[in-house]
Amino acid sequence: MDVTLVDYLTGLPNMNYFMGLASEKKDKLAKQQENAAILFFDLYGMRKFNNEYGFEQGNVLLKSFAGLLINFFGNTNCCRIGGDDFAAITEEDGIENKIQNLLENCKALVKVEGQIVEVTVHIGVYLFKTEDVGINLACDRAKLACAPIRQSNESGHNYYDITISQANEKRQYIIDNLDKALEEHWITVYYQPIVRAVSRRVCDEEALARWIDPVKGFLSPADFIPILEEAKLIYKVDLYILEQVLEKMKFMASKGFYMISQSINLSRSDFEVCDIVEEICKRIDSSGVPRNKINIEITESILGQDFEFMKLQIDRFKKLGFSVWMDDFGSGYSSLDVLHQIQFDLIKFDMSFMRQLDKGKNAKIILAELMRMASALGVDTVCEGAETEEQVQFLMEIGCSKIQGYYFQKPIPVEQILEKYEKGNQIGFENPDEAHYCETIGRINLHDLSVISQNEDGFNSFFSTLPMVIFETSEDSVKFTRYNQSYHEFFERYYGISLQNEAVPIQTIMQGPGASFILVLRQATKEGKRLFIDVNLPDGSVAHYFIRKMEENPVTKTSAVVAAVLSIKDAEQREIYANLARALASDYFSLYYVNLETDEFIEYKSIASKEELSTERHGDEFFRRARLDALTHLYEEDVDAFIKVFTKENILKQIEETGTFVHVYRLVKFGIPYYVNMKAVQMTTNKKYLIIGVSNVDAQVKEQKLLAQVRQNQLVYSRLMALSGDYLCIYVINPEDNSYIEFQGSTNFDSLGISKNGKDFFEDTQKNAEHAVAEEDREEFKRRHTKECIMKDIEKDGVFISSHHLLINNERVKISLRCVLAQENGENRLIMGMRKV
Ligand code: C2E
Ligand code: MG
Ligand code: MG
Repeated sequence: MDVTLVDYLTGLPNMNYFMGLASEKKDKLAKQQENAAILFFDLYGMRKFNNEYGFEQGNVLLKSFAGLLINFFGNTNCCRIGGDDFAAITEEDGIENKIQNLLENCKALVKVEGQIVEVTVHIGVYLFKTEDVGINLACDRAKLACAPIRQSNESGHNYYDITISQANEKRQYIIDNLDKALEEHWITVYYQPIVRAVSRRVCDEEALARWIDPVKGFLSPADFIPILEEAKLIYKVDLYILEQVLEKMKFMASKGFYMISQSINLSRSDFEVCDIVEEICKRIDSSGVPRNKINIEITESILGQDFEFMKLQIDRFKKLGFSVWMDDFGSGYSSLDVLHQIQFDLIKFDMSFMRQLDKGKNAKIILAELMRMASALGVDTVCEGAETEEQVQFLMEIGCSKIQGYYFQKPIPVEQILEKYEKGNQIGFENPDEAHYCETIGRINLHDLSVISQNEDGFNSFFSTLPMVIFETSEDSVKFTRYNQSYHEFFERYYGISLQNEAVPIQTIMQGPGASFILVLRQATKEGKRLFIDVNLPDGSVAHYFIRKMEENPVTKTSAVVAAVLSIKDAEQREIYANLARALASDYFSLYYVNLETDEFIEYKSIASKEELSTERHGDEFFRRARLDALTHLYEEDVDAFIKVFTKENILKQIEETGTFVHVYRLVKFGIPYYVNMKAVQMTTNKKYLIIGVSNVDAQVKEQKLLAQVRQNQLVYSRLMALSGDYLCIYVINPEDNSYIEFQGSTNFDSLGISKNGKDFFEDTQKNAEHAVAEEDREEFKRRHTKECIMKDIEKDGVFISSHHLLINNERVKISLRCVLAQENGENRLIMGMRKV
């Protein structure tokens, strides 16, 4: 064959020669009443093949493919156009079979080092019956028909139709006008809020490109982004969008808005045509915006090709301080494996999940499981495409921390965001200082109880649909921030109210049936503990709750508390407890309900002045625990006695003998001991249960003790008086503070029974001297009966002695008085006795 007519490598006709040959073939077929078709072949991945196996092998591949074409079409009906592109002409009839056969053969086209290497081939087909055009144009159209499948990794074919031409025309328009569109700002940024599920405030915004063209009108990303991606020009748009975003951030900050993180989207070719990491970093740093305020969104499809390279680029972004988000998670195949290998800061679930959600239960399970997995990996989550309240509720239940979708807001330009703010109908922005707090409470999957049982020994974490709720409490309000469907139903059933996400003032709740719960909630918040508590429900039954404080908002000081309803007891059972409790003592502060067979118990604590029990703690080994607790909570002196008497056997013995078991001891609070009275009875209806009430009897006991002390003293002094005969009266004075007690031994003194107390003996003495001491002795009496004189005499002689006349019932009575210093219970006391002489 003439060398100017053939391809040097494959020996096939070259393009020019083929034009003539194909035209002849077409005419020949027409004469046989047959339609012709042009096929365009693209060996996909030829460059990669060359890189991997070398040009030598690449040439072998091209020659083999040429041989295949000759086999199928004959050596005058095909050509090599150039590079890895080939063309062929054939009759339309049977074309499908021919193509399938040919693709089948491509699977084993070449062997490298004994191994078969599969080659991907894309075929575009032009049928002349579409329009009778020249061979040249038919070849162009067959090539165009290849475009829609050009990026596919699999072999395949596609027929030309008119829309392909139109698409091509549009494609050309986009590419030709890109620079102008950027210059003239035809390309502009729309922002879509990403809303924090728990607070329903905007925590991020995604920047999305729009092309508003003077000729073509409004173009959405789908119209121009794939074209620019393919043409490897998209980096221009992406960097331009970034610049616009940075401008907008500074503008919003100047208006006094919080600086909200902005997400930008990147395409695969951004990484191929420039060092996009470097380019982005340069622009952000010179703008003064912190790097952590920009989120880089990368779709999982980008990662598919050349994974290692992309992993490196993502690591670079992360090391530089950017957040890297995986966009459209779940839209491809490799998702799970990718997550394992790259630590994304956030996973954005593809919109298709939302579309599936309404279709059945499986979609819910899958999404809930994926969310659980993300949470386990410590990765934040967003779900795109939420359009209904039901979808939003579900996402909140399963712990999706952020939500994006038309339900909240479509993408809008910045002017519209401002306009909405001015009109007061824009969703508020989140204070970035609260972000961590919100993230924590948002991430909990309310279908997953393990969150409340973390590190809790022996707690069954296999319940899956317990009513669960997250409250946020502040000084003056409580908000049901997140709850699952079961809690919603629980609340509606028992309180007859539909739950709202709005904060409710504490005052309002305190007037209603939820008062005791709120008190407990606040206790949990204050103490930061895990609590098991019982909450009275309006119908008299009791909800047994588990409560745990999770986080405190550093800005608002609001605390987030997670609560789960573990069981609900019916009203009847509750009644028994309550009645018994009241019967036991009206002022108990603790009540134990003990199962004598198992030693298991429930502890109730009454809250402040409330006439009801509300705190509940479950436990086992009651008697052993009580004795152990005694070591830490009881006043030291009372511990031994308590441990001795507080055994099951002893308690039951006493109950058998007297009907109750009573024991008084001291507890210590803030270092101060106080008396409590423990009283135990057996339940009459069911002997298996012991009810033990503990009440505070500090005041009574102290009064009794004082009384006993005084009686004791009186005994001593009256004995003294009896022994020494005629004491009229004895004073016991405390020299520290001059207080005194007077014991009277004579009816003349009109005994008050026990005693007469006074605050200041010496002052009272001086005062009383005015009327009680006879006039002639009065001055001398007053001079000598000062504390100084008395103490001086005692110091000198061991005793103070005086004698004088008193006026008793208008009679002058001579009195002898002696005073000594004595020790009473380890303290100094002046003992002064008065006697008739
Ligand atoms: P994407 O990054 O996944 O962006 C989310 C897309 O979902 C946006 O479409 C948004 O308008 C849409 N969307 C959000 N909520 C809803 C909803 O509730 N219902 C429905 N039906 N759609 C919702 P958009 O703006 O058309 O963007 C499409 C895609 O184009 C983006 O998907 C992104 O991959 C790409 N893209 C957009 N702007 C840029 C850009 O500046 N650079 C690059 N490289 N790609 C961009
Ligand atoms: Mg995106
Ligand atoms: Mg997306």
